[in-house]
Parts: sequence; structure tokens; C-alpha cells
Amino acid sequence: MHATPVTDRTNLLGLTREDLERWVVERGGRPYRARQIMKWLYKQGVGDFDSMTDLAKDFRSLLKEAAEIRTPEIVTAQTASDGTRKWMLRMDEVQGIEMVYIPEPDRGTLCISSQVGCALDCSFCSTGRQGFNRNLSAAEIVGQVWLANRELGFQAGGERIITNVVLMGMGEPLANYRNVLPAVRILMDDLGFDLSRRRVTLSTSGLVPQIYRLAEDSNLALAVSLHAPNDRLRDTLVPINRKHPIAELLAACWHYIDEQNGRSVTFEYVMLDGVNDSPEQALELVDLLRGKPAKVNLIPFNPFPGTHYRCSPPAAIERFRDLLNRHGVIATMRKTRGDDIDAACGQLAGRVQDRVTARLGSKLVSVVAEV
Ligand code: SAH
Ligand code: SF4
Repeated sequence: MHATPVTDRTNLLGLTREDLERWVVERGGRPYRARQIMKWLYKQGVGDFDSMTDLAKDFRSLLKEAAEIRTPEIVTAQTASDGTRKWMLRMDEVQGIEMVYIPEPDRGTLCISSQVGCALDCSFCSTGRQGFNRNLSAAEIVGQVWLANRELGFQAGGERIITNVVLMGMGEPLANYRNVLPAVRILMDDLGFDLSRRRVTLSTSGLVPQIYRLAEDSNLALAVSLHAPNDRLRDTLVPINRKHPIAELLAACWHYIDEQNGRSVTFEYVMLDGVNDSPEQALELVDLLRGKPAKVNLIPFNPFPGTHYRCSPPAAIERFRDLLNRHGVIATMRKTRGDDIDAACGQLAGRVQDRVTARLGSKLVSVVAEV
């Protein structure tokens, strides 16, 4: 494996339309050049400046000198028998992440990462167990989608292959707000990937101040990792709860929906045997969510080496789901995908609005490169 050379050129994949216009103007170009570049990048899937034939030669030379279109590098790629794809990507000399694509008859969902590792230390999460390494840049976040599109055979003018993107891989996206927001803007820009607000989902463990901020800045679909119906239990599963308890978190969620005129928040609830899966706990959850713009996704726990948790038995998950539904809280249970490439990444791509869970082993991937 060779080290990715570091350059001081600007990676255009990280620039929103406004940033790219500014970048072009600062170099003496006209703003519409930015739109031309974006069309090449995102509508044509073109990743080299020489192919951008409607740009003047001089401008192309300038681009080659000052800019680059750089994606993460693929280390390995796997395809499961059900069509689920998984890539291990290296982000720099030592760090890696995984990315998952889940095809379904009516959609294709890509699960991407926002950080290498995570600082929040949820007790059932293998990423959390490993600690935090670094934030991904906007270009590294967008680059995952750009790369997946290319690997999946995207053709200009052809059908969309990636219809949905979920920020549910490694990391806490709201802890990397500065880079996640521009990345999301590029995903949703009609000159970018042109995904609608319901097709870009951000999953958070509950960083309350950033949810309020997000309500000002974006209208994407919000998923919240709840996992427990009371503070006593949630404090032990999702430690950020000690700082931002459930009542505060839910208030932020309802504010988000009001502000953005959204349909509902999806609450993720990982099913842990004997921990959070009893009928009493289902009823406690009903008390929190009944009558609110909320849906619940029950997720089978994905075990990883060293964890003391087990996944609830299927009957317990069904009972939990039925109780919620019977009391007026919409709940679904995920089937798993990509089982036979369980490989490494315990990630849960496509879980939120996508009615499936990619079951991919332990979510982390720390690649130690042989440099
Ligand atoms: N940090 C964000 C997004 C990444 S985690 C968050 O916590 O929401 C994406 C989802 O995977 C979260 O709902 C998280 O709780 C869940 N998850 C983490 N480890 C898991 C495991 N071992 N099995 C099942 N779901 C898990
Ligand atoms: Fe971080 Fe999400 Fe894992 Fe919690 S569940 S440790 S917030 S990645």
C-alpha cells in the first residue's frame, strides 16, 4: 500500500456552489465557471480537468495547477450475495473507514462516515470503543459518494444509482458540524448530487445544541439514536445523555420538525437482550413518543468482539414492535442485509428510512497501512 501524497491543491469535492464560485472569482474567473465545473463533476461524473471540454484551455491549466478532484482510496471491495456492497477506504496514511451500498428494488442507499472513530463512547458501539481519531473534511465526506457513484457504474444521463445517503457510518456527524454541513449542501444542491431532503439522513446520538443549529441551516431527514426510554438507562448506553438528557433531546427534535416543517424524526433503538427490550420499556417509550412526529426503527444489535451485549431474540423484538404499534407509535423492525460479507464494519447503513439494516460486523476499520 502506498501513502497518498499530500498536496496543497484545493480539492473541489469539498466546495459548495458558493465556495466554488468564490474560489473561481478569486482566481480571475467568471462565476458561471463554477457551475460548469459542478456539472462536469456531478452530472457527468468527470474527475479530470482535461475532459471538461467547455472550459477554456487557460482555465483548465489553472485548475490543474491549483485544484484537484481527489477521492478516498479503495483498499478492498466486497459484494454480498444480496447485492450489498462494501468498501474499505483509506483516508490517509493510517486511517480507514468503511462504506456500504444497499440496493433495493426502489432505491439505492449509501452509508457514509463523518469521522474516523468517535469520541462519544456509546457502550454498544464498536466505533465508540475505539475512540476518536479525526474529523473528515467536507471533501472526504463528499468524496465517498462521488467514489461510490463511479464504482457503481454511474453514467451521465443514466438512472440514479445512489438515491439515498445516510450519515450512519463511523462518527458523530454533529460533532463535525463544520465539515458535515457543506458536504450535505453539496449532496442536496441541484447542481451537486441533487438529493431531496427526505433522501439525505443524518443520524445523531443527540448533540442538542447542534440540533438547534441544524434547524437553522438544513432541512435534511433527522434520525436520533435513542436506545433507551429513560435517563437512568440511557446514561449508561449513550453517555452524552448525561449532558443532554432525554427531555432536552426530544424538545430539540420537535423544534427541528416545527422549524423545518418536517414529517417526523426517526428514533433508532438498538435491541439489547435483557437491557432495553422489555414490555415495560416499550410502554415507557410509548409515553415519550405517542402523538409526536416520531417513528421508531428497531435495530438488531450487531455484536463485535469483546462486547458483553447480546441481540434480543426475534420474538422479543417483535413483541416490542407490536406494543409500540398497538399504542400508536409507528415502529418497524429491520431485516439485515449483506450478512455474508459481515466482514468488519458493524454498520447499519440504510437503516433509518430505508427499511433494512446492513449487517456488517464491527463498525470500525482502523487500517494500519504498510507504508
Ligand atoms: N454517531 C451517530 C451516527 C453513527 S452510528 C449516531 O450514534 O447516531 C449509526 C447507528 O448505529 C446509531 O444508531 C448507533 O446507535 C448504531 N449502532 C452502533 N453500534 C451498533 C451495533 N453494534 N449494533 C447495532 N447498531 C449499532
Ligand atoms: Fe459514536 Fe454513534 Fe457509536 Fe455512539 S453510536 S459511539 S455516537 S458512532
